[in-house]
Amino acid sequence: VVRIEGVHKSFGRTKVLHGVSLDVASGEVSCLIGPSGSGKSTMLRCINHLEKVDAGRIWVNGEMVGYADHGTYLQELHDREVQRRRARIGMVFQRFNLFPHMTALQNITAAPIGVAGEPRKEAEENARSLLDRVGLAHKAAAYPRHLSGGQQQRVAIARALAMRPQVMLFDEPTSALDPELVGEVLEVMRDLAANGMTMIVVTHEIAFAREVADTVAFMDDGHIVEHGSARALIETPQHERTRSFLARVT
Ligand code: ATP
Ligand code: MG
Repeated sequence: VVRIEGVHKSFGRTKVLHGVSLDVASGEVSCLIGPSGSGKSTMLRCINHLEKVDAGRIWVNGEMVGYADHGTYLQELHDREVQRRRARIGMVFQRFNLFPHMTALQNITAAPIGVAGEPRKEAEENARSLLDRVGLAHKAAAYPRHLSGGQQQRVAIARALAMRPQVMLFDEPTSALDPELVGEVLEVMRDLAANGMTMIVVTHEIAFAREVADTVAFMDDGHIVEHGSARALIETPQHERTRSFLARVT
């Protein structure tokens, strides 16, 4: 579903990604781990059209990110087309960034109604079933400030799911949460994974990665140093840098 080929990205003179390649198959859960500043968030942002790559290519469901592929030449996409493609990629950030002036239900229906043009009634029915799925059916009318961090993050996941994404990207979805709220969010992600969602998850939760992920990629200094089955990579890392990272975080 997601194919990343030789992606390079710099910010000014800072090289952040040095030729990253990664494939994530349909229904696969892939965790991206690595030290702070290694380029994990930048990689997700490139997949989600939030950053332009300097070189290399990314495809999501056969469509190239940022460009129309005419075979012999690439054409930059119009904003409308970028928006259409972005809509099918769900992203959940470390900070829940819900719209503060909207209820949980309104947060979830905003894009389906405003961007996808879904009829309100249909969007609301779908939002209620998504709230139920993340265990928050009783919080439809609540504003974000009246929800705990874990509840806000679950609404954020429901909001991303409302656009029926082909892939879900998570950027450290639990690292801003109080420890006792981490479990409820991981539980929702575990459920998504079990239901066949394709997911790329940047996380420091190594136990979650071992249990839920199919594959893990270890990133350091803008490179994918090691990539393989979750168990193998975590239990028997092949590279010294992977070993020392895992020793530090587990
Ligand atoms: P963390 O685990 O701390 O979230 P990360 O692996 O997600 O780290 P990135 O956020 O991708 O790392 O950042 C990689 C490098 O790119 C860092 O050195 C960062 O300072 C730099 N960087 C990221 N975004 C920008 C930007 N918009 N402008 C300039 N530099 C940036
Ligand atoms: Mg990051």
